[in-house]
Amino acid sequence: MEVGLRVVRGPDWKWGNQDEGEGHVGTVVEIGRQGSDTSPDKTVVVQWDSGSRTNYRVGYQDAFDLRVFDNAPIGVKHPIIMCDACKQQPIQGMCWRCTKCRDFDLCTLCYMADRHDTSHSFLRIDTVTTKGVKVGKRNSANLTKIKAIGIFSGARVVRGPDWDWANQDGGEGKIGRVSDIRGWDSESGRSVAHVTWVSGSTNVYRVGHKGKVDLKYIEAASGRSYYPDHLQVLGKFAEAETTPTCQFKVGDKVRVDLEAEILKVMQEGHGGWNPRMGEYVGRVGTVHRITERGDVRVQYEGCSNRWTFHPGSLTKVQLHKVGDMVCITEDIHLIKEQQKSHGEWTDAMKPTLGKVGRVLKVYPDGDLRVAVAGQTWTFNPVCCKAISSNQDINTTNSHEHDEPTRRSEETTGRSEETTAGLQGEVDRKQIRDRRANLDYIGLH
Ligand SMILES: [Zn+2]
Ligand SMILES: [Zn+2]
Repeated sequence: MEVGLRVVRGPDWKWGNQDEGEGHVGTVVEIGRQGSDTSPDKTVVVQWDSGSRTNYRVGYQDAFDLRVFDNAPIGVKHPIIMCDACKQQPIQGMCWRCTKCRDFDLCTLCYMADRHDTSHSFLRIDTVTTKGVKVGKRNSANLTKIKAIGIFSGARVVRGPDWDWANQDGGEGKIGRVSDIRGWDSESGRSVAHVTWVSGSTNVYRVGHKGKVDLKYIEAASGRSYYPDHLQVLGKFAEAETTPTCQFKVGDKVRVDLEAEILKVMQEGHGGWNPRMGEYVGRVGTVHRITERGDVRVQYEGCSNRWTFHPGSLTKVQLHKVGDMVCITEDIHLIKEQQKSHGEWTDAMKPTLGKVGRVLKVYPDGDLRVAVAGQTWTFNPVCCKAISSNQDINTTNSHEHDEPTRRSEETTGRSEETTAGLQGEVDRKQIRDRRANLDYIGLH
């Protein structure tokens, strides 16, 4: 739970029209804690868009007064997932996954706008670290849909409680008009309002960004409609359970296989860049934690800092040990790419493609010395798929090269059936795509 969440009244609401009526939106501006005068543990303080501020129960005495209308303002995103309706990637805020269709996700705007078949039920995935929660069908006869009301496009506003911008508004009480709600760089989504003041000056102001609210309305506007029953009850679900939309989990061995310059560009809005991170490129680290924003905290041996990485910059490293049987990938383009700085590639290695070999040595960076096809070479472990001795080698081979090729057509390769090894293939494909993109946009 974090300040900046946009909320509406929830199931145990018993406070009349403190919120100005059902559908009115507010912002969590303080999280309760033991010993606090304003907000004890399991309560939060909400700043309603109308300007009033009170605390509410989010588990206090087992009652829940609020629901999460939008968590994009606290920076929640699903980094590798694209909305299959509006094509937004990453999805900002909650992610909605169809339980009927394979690999079909919607952003919260599209879900609430009834995109996709409304007779299909969905999973609501609040953050990358929470389990999906199954919600009912949107076409259910008894399901209510409510129009959100508050600081949305068209609202007339004046300066609010956190105002910190001198007389930008033309002076206290001067009125402005919201022209749209947008995000703040890649830090937070739907978290600031663009306002034009009577003086004609315009600027953006925080409505949730960093838990601050610079405005209050004197005339509310209608926002999008929402299904209250499908929204998370604030405080009700334990956070950080599993990681269904993140391909990494705590304890995984990972490595950045990108050049520092590319990593630097990718890190924007994903934990940022520190030149010292360059020292860890190519080294194997351990996933310490997945952040609410879906970024990955990695711990390196002998390093007191933990670094936060864009998940797309990381490759899962399979742990092999001496004596393991591994199958070298058949994808020559992939192996050429991945061998850079990991033993390199020479055409003399061609006879090893798709062949099974034995690990002779594991280097400290995870690279493998493999005896294969009568030769001995150093391989990037991501090019080597582990084979268990009792597995039919031919099946494994054909499986390995068919699957990634087919899946590489997809933009967000994910599948519950995907094995760890194949997931690795897909991740790499994504990284290559990203690199191509970044080379183009960022570096030329
Ligand atoms: Zn969408
Ligand atoms: Zn569907």
